[in-house]
Amino acid sequence: MSEHLPEDSGERSLWGATAIANPVESRLRESLDADVLVVGGGYTGLSSALHLAERGLSVVLLEARSIGFGGSGRNAGLVNAGVWRNPQHVVEVLGAEAGQKFNLALRDSPALVFELVERYGMDCEAQRCATVNIAHAPAGMRHLETRCRQLQDLGAGVELIDGARAQEISGSPVYRHGGILDPGAGTIQPLSYVRSLALAARVLGVGLYQESGLEELRRHGSRWQATTGSGSVTADQVILATNAYADGDSQGVRESTLPVYIFQCATEPMDETLAAEVIPGRQGLWDTQALMTSARVDGGRRLVMSSAGSLHGVQRSVREDWMARNRKRLFPQTRGLRWQYRWSGRVGVTSSKILRVQQPAPGIYAPAGFNGRGIGTGTVLGKHLAELIASGDRESFPFPLEALQREQWRSPRAGYYQYGTLALQLVDRRGG
Ligand SMILES: Cc1cc2nc3c(=O)[nH]c(=O)nc-3n(C[C@H](O)[C@H](O)[C@H](O)COP(=O)(O)OP(=O)(O)OC[C@H]3O[C@@H](n4cnc5c(N)ncnc54)[C@H](O)[C@@H]3O)c2cc1C
Repeated sequence: MSEHLPEDSGERSLWGATAIANPVESRLRESLDADVLVVGGGYTGLSSALHLAERGLSVVLLEARSIGFGGSGRNAGLVNAGVWRNPQHVVEVLGAEAGQKFNLALRDSPALVFELVERYGMDCEAQRCATVNIAHAPAGMRHLETRCRQLQDLGAGVELIDGARAQEISGSPVYRHGGILDPGAGTIQPLSYVRSLALAARVLGVGLYQESGLEELRRHGSRWQATTGSGSVTADQVILATNAYADGDSQGVRESTLPVYIFQCATEPMDETLAAEVIPGRQGLWDTQALMTSARVDGGRRLVMSSAGSLHGVQRSVREDWMARNRKRLFPQTRGLRWQYRWSGRVGVTSSKILRVQQPAPGIYAPAGFNGRGIGTGTVLGKHLAELIASGDRESFPFPLEALQREQWRSPRAGYYQYGTLALQLVDRRGG
């Protein structure tokens, strides 16, 4: 099965239409034995599997749908460092020592992504062309100045840019207040990247299975036995890398985050003249508006924009119309272009806004809650999980290992995000 499935029948994903072929076809139909079972075929699961295989461990990976079905095949493709919140926030939540360790582990996460791309010759439109957290107004810039100071204190190679430079990078009359430029960051075709990770893992001997959802996970002596509809895997240790898409026997992972949606719209290709005006250096941008917007240009010269919300049912036309007004304001030169693709995806949000690496039981690791930043995070976390499992050295693992936590009032809180953003998009007539 190579088709990338949409979240909803009205959706059509740019990444599904332009990605490299899916290298995984088989479904689990036997009983296997492995050192480590990985559940979930996104960045976290595949980076874990790849790095475990590099260390000589035998690995089986089960994916319920297709490789990259979750956030990894749907995201905006901005390969950013760190987490959404400022480094100081992480320190406040985790404490000085643990927070610093955590921040340092993710400070240079794009470097690992681009290093893997190069080492394995991945074909995923990877461009280390920088990303910019860009201010939409003077108040946004004040927030970014604080953030930049904290990132620089951490040793991150970021720099503040002024309004003229922000305007030059974006080609937008609105983004004229400055921003934070991260020259080590960049963009990728997200579905091609996750499929490339799968290809690299397969070459190293990882057993990869699609349409093979974990249905039951239970103790089997000192090991774990996982069953799917048509097979089983027995392993010493298990990584549940199902995150916001956790399904089947999720071992509580599903309840450990709030499902929050992000949607994206991509225009038809711009001609060369227009493409030279809109983000001409091809950096990835995300802004400081209350309804955060990201913008980038893909390898086919399409402007790709994202913001909060899903495209389910009647929400679709409201969100799409709002994004058209938003685009007209931010990039008025693109006014003649039609949307060619639109799709959405789910992000796992935690109350602390910081990812958790949970241990529902001995021998099971269940990371979740990347809060919208998972390309570098999932790749780095997978590498560290592989090191932890291969060496048993908990001291060197840079993330706190926690008991499973359940988010309270999941449905009402998720509904609040969903309908709150819809109401804001409905009443925001700017650009109309
Ligand atoms: C629209 C959108 C835009 C985003 N933009 C960015 C961005 O620009 N930059 C960035 O860094 N991050 C971004 N993110 C976040 C990023 O995509 C995610 O954090 C990341 O993909 C999470 O990867 P993962 O491997 O942990 O989980 P996922 O990619 O969600 O993978 C989990 C997998 O587990 C599978 N699964 C679930 N249950 C089972 C089961 N029982 N058995 C077997 N398999 C199962 C699912 O089918 C899924 O494929 C965005 C997210 C979205 C949705």
